[in-house]
Amino acid sequence: MLQIDWPGYVLAVLEALERAGYEAWAVGGCVRDALLGRVPHDWDVCTLATPPQMRRALEGFRLVDTGEKHGTLTAVAGGEPVEITTFRADGAYTDHRRPDGVSFVRSLREDLARRDFTVNAMACHPARGLADYFGGREDLRWGLIRCVGEADERFNEDGLRLLRALRFAARFRFAIEPETAEALRRNRGLLRFIARERVLSELRGMLLAPGAAEILAAYPEVIAAAVPQLRTEGDAWRRALAAVEKAPADFSVRLALLTDSRNAADLLSGLKTDCETRDDVLALTRRRGDTPPRDAPGARRLLFALGEERARKLCGLWRAEGREGADEAAEQIEAALARQDCHTLAQLQIGGRQLTAMGLRGPAVGETLRELLFAVMDGRIENEESALLDAAKRLSEKK
Ligand code: ATP
Ligand code: MG
Repeated sequence: MLQIDWPGYVLAVLEALERAGYEAWAVGGCVRDALLGRVPHDWDVCTLATPPQMRRALEGFRLVDTGEKHGTLTAVAGGEPVEITTFRADGAYTDHRRPDGVSFVRSLREDLARRDFTVNAMACHPARGLADYFGGREDLRWGLIRCVGEADERFNEDGLRLLRALRFAARFRFAIEPETAEALRRNRGLLRFIARERVLSELRGMLLAPGAAEILAAYPEVIAAAVPQLRTEGDAWRRALAAVEKAPADFSVRLALLTDSRNAADLLSGLKTDCETRDDVLALTRRRGDTPPRDAPGARRLLFALGEERARKLCGLWRAEGREGADEAAEQIEAALARQDCHTLAQLQIGGRQLTAMGLRGPAVGETLRELLFAVMDGRIENEESALLDAAKRLSEKK
């Protein structure tokens, strides 16, 4: 029998549906993850009940409409959401992405047949055990991503599945079964139908996965079809992949490794990333060629220029690339932070008010504060009020 650790709230949902006479199963990612011995991050249920029937059967639960038209309601059980979807088959696909309509069906098997990969097309029940019509368990054992049914057809229905295949393969370090792999390469042109946001989110999942470098190396033409701004060949690409493998699991760092300061802006607008990722990647690619700081003043200047988070990311990038002095730079940065070394104007023990009291006006105030900060960061003056005031006087006399 299967060793599955069923959360009580999932059992409660299954029980309530079945008590009302509707077959119900846990399905998809949660079954896959449980069989892999991983803790599922969420549990999905499929059932014979239609949404109005679910509402009656689940009276005691809070229900949220997450897509009633498509047969989906979310029950909040014990504070946890469980997505419940009526057994369904997808209608025709004309846009290579979304079915034109869905139809409810009477059997679990038909519902499982519309799912993307065999490892995602299993259902499980606490009493009836595993429902595995497409060899998902065997593929899980061998570590294979394989389309349910005919791969060409399945990719043509929904081009997003190409990227999902790569993402799951990277996440579980699985291989892609040969026929599925060939169909993937053959159908890469479909990726132009995929919305940028979806490409971005799949790319993020893929890049952060443990097997990212392997998958990017094995399917460069598919990656290039999804993200035309990436140059997925040549020595630079191979070096980038070697670095991705060693990089921290941070999207900005890994994305920065795949591009350079000339092409980063183009890549970022092509992908429509959020502003934070964009600023991260631009800063990282711009600074990548700098010499890693070897001493405390250098570390403080880098912290001043980039801030704590980004300075750490840059060190992570340098280390992943095997840059000389990268480890030392990271140590210097951490030591400066641990000592709470001054590296921001806010930490300076003097402010604009004191300088104005000394008679400084306008831009001279900001300029002087900056000069003082640099003098402190370089260790030329103490970060202490009277020392700073003296230095400020000397500076203003020179002006
Ligand atoms: P994750 O851990 O990434 O959430 P998951 O397998 O739960 O993995 P979801 O995107 O949450 O993936 O989808 C839930 C299930 O729905 C999948 O396991 C699969 O059975 C089915 N599914 C999702 N997207 C597709 C798709 N594009 N085509 C076919 N089936 C899909
Ligand atoms: Mg999921």
